[in-house]
Amino acid sequence: MFSYRHGFHAGNHADVLKHTVLIAVVKHLTAKPTALAVIDTHAGAGLYRLDDDFAHTSGEADEGIRKLLALAEPTPLVQDYLDLVRSFNREGKAVRVYPGSPFVTQALLRQQARDKLHLFELHPTDSKSLESHVEQLEAGRQVHVQRADGFEGLKALLPPPSRRGLVLIDPSYELKNDYGKVAACLQDSLRRFSTGTYMVWYPVIPRPEAHELPRRLKTLANQAGKSWLHATLAIGQSEEKPVPGEPAKRPGLTASGVFIVNPPHTLKAGLQLSLPQLVDVLGRGRGKGHVLESGGR
Ligand code: SAM
Repeated sequence: MFSYRHGFHAGNHADVLKHTVLIAVVKHLTAKPTALAVIDTHAGAGLYRLDDDFAHTSGEADEGIRKLLALAEPTPLVQDYLDLVRSFNREGKAVRVYPGSPFVTQALLRQQARDKLHLFELHPTDSKSLESHVEQLEAGRQVHVQRADGFEGLKALLPPPSRRGLVLIDPSYELKNDYGKVAACLQDSLRRFSTGTYMVWYPVIPRPEAHELPRRLKTLANQAGKSWLHATLAIGQSEEKPVPGEPAKRPGLTASGVFIVNPPHTLKAGLQLSLPQLVDVLGRGRGKGHVLESGGR
């Protein structure tokens, strides 16, 4: 069974990158009146407490969202991200509640336009938490939760009836074959629904499969004749000295990337402004930086 629990990582630098991009994409796609379907293949628990045992033990939000809160002049995309996270917390109070991708997305969807959100989560505990968090939303038929494999479940939902859709593919990559599944899933999905927008998150780690993944995704997008955008954010190694007598902290994830197929045409310019700001605020030392590249059609 899976041991990954997103609660340990909620609000970290990888969530900052992923959710900043997700907000920009959903905002762009909901600017048109036609209904939008969003499919989140790996949804997690949906909402997280940053002061519970999980988040408190890892302290990852301290190196992510919490560092950004004091920013005097956020760029427009970072401002949208901060506003959305703050909207889940009481005004003027510290950020204690952090929205995962399902709640980030749902906050931007429209009842009137009949937008839909389909969520898949396999972990027994997190899928229960997700269901109860979604029930509290009282969003009616807008949100569907399934305790099922997102890679498989996605197939039956493409193309969406309105022919306007976004798919977020955000596995934990706990299993080595997740990398291959992501590539196969994108290839299959582009065959079923070539005009959809697809967003893949992945960890930048020294593992051949992780290193290869963006290259494979670029090849797939190019072969399908689709435009793509690839962005990474690296916060670098911590320069904190180990405290004598205490065990050295494990380095943890220091960088991640998002790969978007059929991205909004405004996204690159938005990220050109925002990624350097995120590196400035979140960067810690050796290895910090970002990549922003695009291609295709
Ligand atoms: N998308 C979430 C967010 O941004 O808030 C975080 C998701 S977390 C990185 C990945 C999740 O996928 C975990 O909760 C894990 O239990 C779940 N998972 C793993 N394999 C899955 C699969 N095949 N289908 C659906 N969920 C899966």
